[in-house]
Amino acid sequence: LSVSVRRTFAADGADSGAVIVSRDVTSELTALRARDSLVASVSHELRTPLTSIIGYLELAIDDPDVPAHARGSLEVAERNAERLLGIVSDILTASSRSEKSADLTVAQQDIDVAEMLRASGVAYRPSAAERGIEIEIDEIAHVRAYADPLRMRQVLDNLVSNAVKYNRDGGTVSLAATSDGLSTWLTVTDTGIGMSRDALGRLFERFFRADASRTGGTGLGLSIARDLVRAHGGDITVESTPGIGSVFTVRLPASAEALDSPAPADLTE
Ligand code: ADP
Repeated sequence: LSVSVRRTFAADGADSGAVIVSRDVTSELTALRARDSLVASVSHELRTPLTSIIGYLELAIDDPDVPAHARGSLEVAERNAERLLGIVSDILTASSRSEKSADLTVAQQDIDVAEMLRASGVAYRPSAAERGIEIEIDEIAHVRAYADPLRMRQVLDNLVSNAVKYNRDGGTVSLAATSDGLSTWLTVTDTGIGMSRDALGRLFERFFRADASRTGGTGLGLSIARDLVRAHGGDITVESTPGIGSVFTVRLPASAEALDSPAPADLTE
C-alpha cells in the first residue's frame, strides 16, 4: 500500500483536518518486476553473440591480408560493438542489483590511480578524435588508492565516455588525480554542454537522462558508478555550469589504513 497524509487548513489558518489517500500499488510493483526481469534476460541473451562478434572482428583486424581501408571499417565496427557490450553490461548490473538489492562487492587493493586514469584516457582517444576532442592526462606521479582495479576502470570509463559524449566538437577532457595521504581524488573535467541545477540533483538516479531526445544512452552509467565508488568507502560529486562544462570528482580511500579511519563526509552531495 502507498499511503499519503496531508493536513488541511481553512482560509483563516484554522486546522480543518487531514486528507488520507491510500492506494494499492501491487500491480505497479508486479509490472516493474516483470520489466526488470525481461530486461535482464534480454541483456543476458545479447551478451554471448556480441562477445562472439567482437572476437571475430578482432581476428579480422589482426589478419595481415585485410586491406587497410577495410581494417578502418572493421575497427569502427569493433568499437561500436564494444560500446554495445558496455551498455548491455550496465543494464545487467543494474537489474541484478534491484533483484537482490545486495551491496556491490569490491575487492580492494593498493593501486596506482595515475596509471588507471592514463589507460582509460588513452582508450577513448580514438573515438574522441573523431569529433576533434582532445583528452589531456595530467602528469601525475605515484598517486595511490585502495580500490578494486576492474570496478574503478568501469567507473572511469563511464565518466570519460560521458565527458566525450556530452562535449562540444573540438572540446577538451582533462584527467587529473591528487592525494593528501588519507583520501585520493580523481577528476574528470569537460568543456561540454554542462547541466542545469535540476539535472544535477537527479544525475545519479537510475535511468535519468537530462536530455532524453539524445540517442545513445541508458541513464544507468552514473547510478552504477556512484554505487561502485560508495562500495569502496568513497563518493562521487559533480559541479557543472551549463554551456561551460562539468567536473566529476571521485574520492577514494588512499590506503587500507585510510579506509579504517574514514575521512570526514563530503560537504557536497
Ligand atoms: P547515459 O550517458 O547512458 O545517458 P549516465 O548515467 O552516464 O547515462 O548519465 C546520465 C545523464 O547525465 C546523461 O544522460 C546526461 O544527460 C547527463 N550527463 C552525464 N555526464 C555528463 C557530462 N559530462 N556533461 C553533461 N551531462 C552529463
